[in-house]
Amino acid sequence: MYECMILCYLNLKKLFMNSNKNITIVGAGPGGLTAAISLAKNGYDVNLFEQNNDVGLRFNGDFQGLENWSDEEDTLKVLSRIGIKINFLCHPYSGSDGLFYGPKLQKIQVKTSRSLFYLVERGSNGNSLDQGLRRQAEDAGVNILWGRKLDSVDSQAAIVGTGPKAADAIAKGMVFKTSLKNQFIGFINNKIAPKAYAYLLVNNGKATFATCMFEDFKNEKLYYDRALRVLNSVIDIDIVEPKEFGGFVNFFNEPKISKDNRILYVGENAGFQDALWGFGIKYAMLSGYYAARSIIERNNYDELCKAYLYPKLQTSLANRWLFAHLYNKGYSYLLKKMEALDDVIPALRKHYNTSFSKRLIYPIAQRWYKTRLIDKQCMHEHCDCVWCRHGKLAHASSDIG
Ligand SMILES: Cc1cc2nc3c(=O)[nH]c(=O)nc-3n(C[C@H](O)[C@H](O)[C@H](O)COP(=O)(O)OP(=O)(O)OC[C@H]3O[C@@H](n4cnc5c(N)ncnc54)[C@H](O)[C@@H]3O)c2cc1C
Repeated sequence: MYECMILCYLNLKKLFMNSNKNITIVGAGPGGLTAAISLAKNGYDVNLFEQNNDVGLRFNGDFQGLENWSDEEDTLKVLSRIGIKINFLCHPYSGSDGLFYGPKLQKIQVKTSRSLFYLVERGSNGNSLDQGLRRQAEDAGVNILWGRKLDSVDSQAAIVGTGPKAADAIAKGMVFKTSLKNQFIGFINNKIAPKAYAYLLVNNGKATFATCMFEDFKNEKLYYDRALRVLNSVIDIDIVEPKEFGGFVNFFNEPKISKDNRILYVGENAGFQDALWGFGIKYAMLSGYYAARSIIERNNYDELCKAYLYPKLQTSLANRWLFAHLYNKGYSYLLKKMEALDDVIPALRKHYNTSFSKRLIYPIAQRWYKTRLIDKQCMHEHCDCVWCRHGKLAHASSDIG
């Protein structure tokens, strides 16, 4: 009887505590899942709507890199600080684990004082980043509603992390099995990856090869075939059970991060994407974390993003403009400079962080790059539409809680 009363009291207390703590999240990508984990761990009732029946279905078991150069703090420490455990494949690669090839196929190895990036797998396999985050969300008590595509959100507070809406850059590649040892190869060459790069990532008998392009999308097959020929010319490679894939990323030159002070946008849906090279995972997770913090601590999401995400985002757009104007000659020069450095990490960090010259270039880059985003879905003000930003206070800061 006494036990029953205590149980009743605890349930009532929980109900009371959570009565104003219902949050809707749309999209179970790294952005939405990170937000969900943070909120659930802080006592919120989180309903996470995912249009597919599993996480990671936008991806294909391909390897991606969690970059480790843009912050002083190691990326694994950043993840630990924001409450994310490493329960997924996350393999460090330093400069000595790979090579870069320039436009004339000049071979370059860079030196690094720590890992250059952490290799992660994307998709629905058990070891993927997506599945790892899913497990952490479920352990924290997040209620994931599978197969539920949400086009509008009418709850008091919502976070939307539905990924890219348009293709500002595309990738074409394949995943395959191979007997090659763990390694990475990066190619910088406009003939195989216009204004971007191609990459090979090998980990424990599995590999990903892809070429990315920031322009001339209609010739993607041509660039991909050329890239494959170049790959075969620099390495003796066995390609077993290849499966082709394609993908795209979306960056806008001005992120739109909240609507009507109520819906907070995270990840690529908000425009958080590294405009230089498309390394968007860290942005997605950090913006998810800041959106959650803004709700938990009643902080202003816009202010958090201004302090921690915008400066790098703006610099990445300035860098994109610069990189696109270097052409193959410039890439050769850049690689040579990188090879001469004792440690490329601080040099890369310097380029990823804001400076006087980058601030000057930013407005030019802003005018130069018009996003390919066409917002078709809804035309009325103060709507609940997941996609559009037509609300009168579309750019207003957020203080929901
Ligand atoms: C080929 C390729 C290679 C890449 N390589 C790298 C890399 O090496 N390093 C790096 O940092 N980044 C890389 N990126 C970018 C990175 O993958 C993305 O920036 C990151 O996944 C964005 O996370 P997100 O949470 O914003 O969105 P997503 O990962 O796209 O997740 C969005 C989720 O929302 C769901 N969803 C969409 N609409 C709805 C709806 N209406 N209702 C319910 N659910 C919905 C989707 O199904 C999806 O699960 C790469 C991208 C591609 C395509």
